[in-house]
Amino acid sequence: MQAGVAEPTAPVGSVPYLQALVDALVDLSSRDPLTGLANRRSFELALAREIDRVARSGEPALLLVLDIDHFKRVNDTWGHGAGDGVIRAVAGVLNECVRPMDLVARTGGEEYAIVLPNCAPAFGEAVAERIRRRVEALPIQVAPGERISATVSIGGAFAPQWVRSSAHLWLERADQQLYRAKGRGRNLVCLEPTAVSLVSSEERRMLFETSQFLDFE
Ligand code: GH3
Ligand code: MG
Ligand code: MG
Repeated sequence: MQAGVAEPTAPVGSVPYLQALVDALVDLSSRDPLTGLANRRSFELALAREIDRVARSGEPALLLVLDIDHFKRVNDTWGHGAGDGVIRAVAGVLNECVRPMDLVARTGGEEYAIVLPNCAPAFGEAVAERIRRRVEALPIQVAPGERISATVSIGGAFAPQWVRSSAHLWLERADQQLYRAKGRGRNLVCLEPTAVSLVSSEERRMLFETSQFLDFE
């Protein structure tokens, strides 16, 4: 049995045994081993699914991308193992800050992304700001008796409602905001300004209740 996959309890070779094995392998292939968060691959799948959902339902969705500030200094000062501890601690904060429906992923070394379905533009700033403050407030042990605090820069963009976009473009827009946050001094949230929708809810209802759009739910 491979490390990280628990041996199923059902009789070896039975259908429940094989099903449990498949489930465990799927879980293993979608998670980042250091933090237990979704990995880059499952993040990309979730992003593509969310793009489709937004275009069909018109519900706003927010994508946040986060990067730990001056993380090289942590590695250089306290060692790679301590750096790993910081990456894990920040992951824990992110998990605590979101709703069960949100997806938190580790997308790179000290980089994360969060997909927040059904997040109204008015709440975007508040959610991201809460995450930024909670990370900053967490003391993280890096050596016996030594605690530091880490900060993150956060960029964010909403998926364009009622328009079929691409996951790539959505991620690029959020990344641009992350670069802005870094450029403006770090430990900051920058969200792409949201365009006010010119289509009223009544117009949307009319559009989707007529003709060829009837097979959309
Ligand atoms: P900035 O504020 O501009 O983001 O500065 P930074 O120092 O965080 O810069 P950068 O993002 O380039 O540095 C990321 C560093 O993270 C470089 C790399 O050595 C380190 N790193 C990447 N993956 C891991 C990992 O899994 N564990 C540890 N401990 N370090 C990692
Ligand atoms: Mg980075
Ligand atoms: Mg960094």
